[in-house]
Amino acid sequence: MHFWRNQMPQNMFIRTNPLYISLSDPEDRWTIHRYSAETGTALASPFPRPAFVDYAFWFARHNGVEFTPELAIGIDRSEDGFAVTTESGQSIQAAHVIIATGLQHFAHIPAELQSLPSSLLTHTYGQTSFERFRGQTVAVIGSGQSAWEAAALLHQAGCDTELLFRREAVHYASEDNTASGQRLIETAEQFYRWPLEQKLERWNTPRRGSVAPFLKPYVEGKVRTTGGVSIVKAEATADGKVHLDLSNGDSRTVDHVVSATGYHIDLDLLPFISAALKEAIVREPEPFNRFPLLSEHFESSVPGLYFTSALASHTHGPAFGFIAGLRQACRSIVPRIAESKAGIKG
Ligand SMILES: Cc1cc2nc3c(=O)[nH]c(=O)nc-3n(C[C@H](O)[C@H](O)[C@H](O)COP(=O)(O)OP(=O)(O)OC[C@H]3O[C@@H](n4cnc5c(N)ncnc54)[C@H](O)[C@@H]3O)c2cc1C
Repeated sequence: MHFWRNQMPQNMFIRTNPLYISLSDPEDRWTIHRYSAETGTALASPFPRPAFVDYAFWFARHNGVEFTPELAIGIDRSEDGFAVTTESGQSIQAAHVIIATGLQHFAHIPAELQSLPSSLLTHTYGQTSFERFRGQTVAVIGSGQSAWEAAALLHQAGCDTELLFRREAVHYASEDNTASGQRLIETAEQFYRWPLEQKLERWNTPRRGSVAPFLKPYVEGKVRTTGGVSIVKAEATADGKVHLDLSNGDSRTVDHVVSATGYHIDLDLLPFISAALKEAIVREPEPFNRFPLLSEHFESSVPGLYFTSALASHTHGPAFGFIAGLRQACRSIVPRIAESKAGIKG
């Protein structure tokens, strides 16, 4: 939960309807509904991020989940399975490893912005607040949820903010987010068994990022939006600003650029898996070979090494970019590990 607790805007809402954010325990005893009843927390949508974090730690307490609050900096094969090295130098031997590291390491900055120094360019990933930009002019690039969130928070922080994006207009998701929550759960359960043609159609359809309607009042009428443009060139100016040339011939000079440009999921970008181990992991066929090829149980070609989260979102479908997918991952991985511990080969 480090991501949700420490790497998100603190006063933000969770987009998913709270009816679909229960974490998984074997008997479904510690659901969000029970948390709500026991703590008096209303299951309102949008659901506040701090309440979700509180639910997760309540869930962990009741399920005896223990943490080693350190980063894993190395994973390699060992005689008995795997050796995981942490940043303090601990070495943990494990027969099974589940890589569930979310979107970390995958923040995508488009080529036209990459030459800007980090003092002038920020990706939305990991931003907890935009207060440091107070009083500045800021261009937010993108038209999805993170762009709208960043623009809302920049406006609240007193910035002169403009959203610049390629689409002609923003695409708001439906007001009723129960159907999408239910659909994600069903897709998570069924995607692996979809016929190949149906999977191909899904894989080859670019995602239409959408914005949760609860963000409308924070942005509309408050933040300038310019659609139908892309950034042609971005340059740091001699006086420490950013000059942007736009595809419609206009230009902007701003103090800072926020890149709300999403994620590029790629196994090779994970810095903590050894080169030898990466080499041994069979990939999905071209052109999807940035993803590991996974079994029904999310196991890679290296026995005992599992992937969930974004890296499972090719083999197991788009729900694995969302909380709603996590349950299916747990339901598939845990019995598999229990089975192999008991010496039964599936
Ligand atoms: C701004 C934002 C808002 C989002 N809002 C929603 C939403 O409303 N609903 C929704 O369903 N999804 C949302 N998502 C997607 C969200 O990331 C996933 O739904 C969910 O968090 C996935 O859970 P996860 O466990 O796979 O990954 P995460 O929750 O990202 O957890 C991964 C964890 O791994 C840790 N980690 C990474 N590298 C290492 C390492 N080397 N060693 C040890 N730990 C490591 C990270 O610190 C992190 O805590 C949002 C994403 C973003 C970026």
